[in-house]
Amino acid sequence: MIKAIKGFNDILPEQSAKWLHLEAVLANVLGRYGYEHIRLPIVEQTDLFARAIGGATDIVEKEMYSFTDKSDPPTPLALRPEGTAGAVRAVIEHNLLRSDTPKLWYIGPMFRYERPQKGRYRQFHQLGVESFGSPLPDADAELIAMTHLMWQELGLKDEMRLQLNSLGELDERHAYREALVAYLTDKHDQLDEDSKRRLTTNPLRILDSKEASTQAVLSDAPKLADFLGADSIIHFEEVQTYLTALGIDYEINPHLVRGLDYYNKTVFEWVTDKLGSQATVCAGGRYDGLIGQLKSIGARNDKPVKSEPAVGFAMGLERLLLLIDAVAPFAETSACDIFVVTHPEVYSAGINYAQKLRYDRPDLRIKMASATSLKSQMKKADKSGAALTVILAQQELEDNIISIKNMQTGEQTTAAQDWLSAAENFSI
Ligand code: ATP
Ligand code: MG
Repeated sequence: MIKAIKGFNDILPEQSAKWLHLEAVLANVLGRYGYEHIRLPIVEQTDLFARAIGGATDIVEKEMYSFTDKSDPPTPLALRPEGTAGAVRAVIEHNLLRSDTPKLWYIGPMFRYERPQKGRYRQFHQLGVESFGSPLPDADAELIAMTHLMWQELGLKDEMRLQLNSLGELDERHAYREALVAYLTDKHDQLDEDSKRRLTTNPLRILDSKEASTQAVLSDAPKLADFLGADSIIHFEEVQTYLTALGIDYEINPHLVRGLDYYNKTVFEWVTDKLGSQATVCAGGRYDGLIGQLKSIGARNDKPVKSEPAVGFAMGLERLLLLIDAVAPFAETSACDIFVVTHPEVYSAGINYAQKLRYDRPDLRIKMASATSLKSQMKKADKSGAALTVILAQQELEDNIISIKNMQTGEQTTAAQDWLSAAENFSI
């Protein structure tokens, strides 16, 4: 038997209703903020991710699904590990920033070669939001306010903690990086293996090491906040001022650095205590340099090209659903309101009745079983979760009526055939 690939999950009908509901709630909030939907390819050139996310990140170093296609010469391609790179590519390619400051969202599968476990899969789903064109802190605050409303709508307001940090600008980060490397090189022996490696490849990532011994070493390390310039400090303070005005609580986490290289200034995460070590449900930040960085690919000497400011976030939908199931599960719903049952010999009358009902009552979900015996159709009706079963067999057709069985009480009555079509009589 050929099975699904490890870390790639089927979402079965019993789960998919939750997915659709969750997606509808999130899309509704995005609509209320005037964000527009964009649909992007799942495959892009590998180079896009390597350039955008950074060569020394976990994603590019070890998590990407990359391959070559059959073109000549073969093009290195990758399944997208995240959405921002593709969104920025599309914004540049279609010139969306020419006369607008687009606020975009997308939803769909992402792919990372990681060790599968609860809340961590190889194909997972993100909702991503990107707000382009504003360098101002209100754009950062708007995204956070929007996620805050999403938690409210999902009943998760008390389960999520907002963590904030500022990564400053590139030169500020470089100066800090030097100071941090100098400090940690002295204490090399006390670092865990991963952090030793990162000391040369991506030292800032050492800050979010989970190792207690490394964290102990870091307690006396230089602080990134001390390396921020005035512009970065003011920006960060203004984000906090807006959040306070909006009544949104936050914690400053000086060790929050994020696993992707493109961020500057504000970074944030929404974390929960309910999901073990897969605690981050939503993460994002500002990335003012990325557009320029990607625009400059192919330019003479890859010379830096003028960038455009942007800020965004992505939330992991599997983690969000695990949290919802744990603390505020969606109400169970059935896939059916009315089941229509008929005798196989008069099935065309039954199918016609159900069809007319679907035209007349678009608010109702009406199901039928195949033209097997009346008894087996009734069994299907019992299992369907329908509120009512309408029976239209020979006797009903002769008498020009329908029989209606209340599936909760088992009580059976009769009514005129147009009874259900008349909207006032029955609603679910
Ligand atoms: P982590 O530290 O948990 O690996 P990350 O920093 O790699 O997360 P991001 O790239 O910021 O994650 O992605 C945003 C969100 O997408 C995460 O906060 C998480 O909710 C979700 N996510 C990331 N990787 C996975 C995965 N392999 N499986 C399920 N969800 C994921
Ligand atoms: Mg990761």
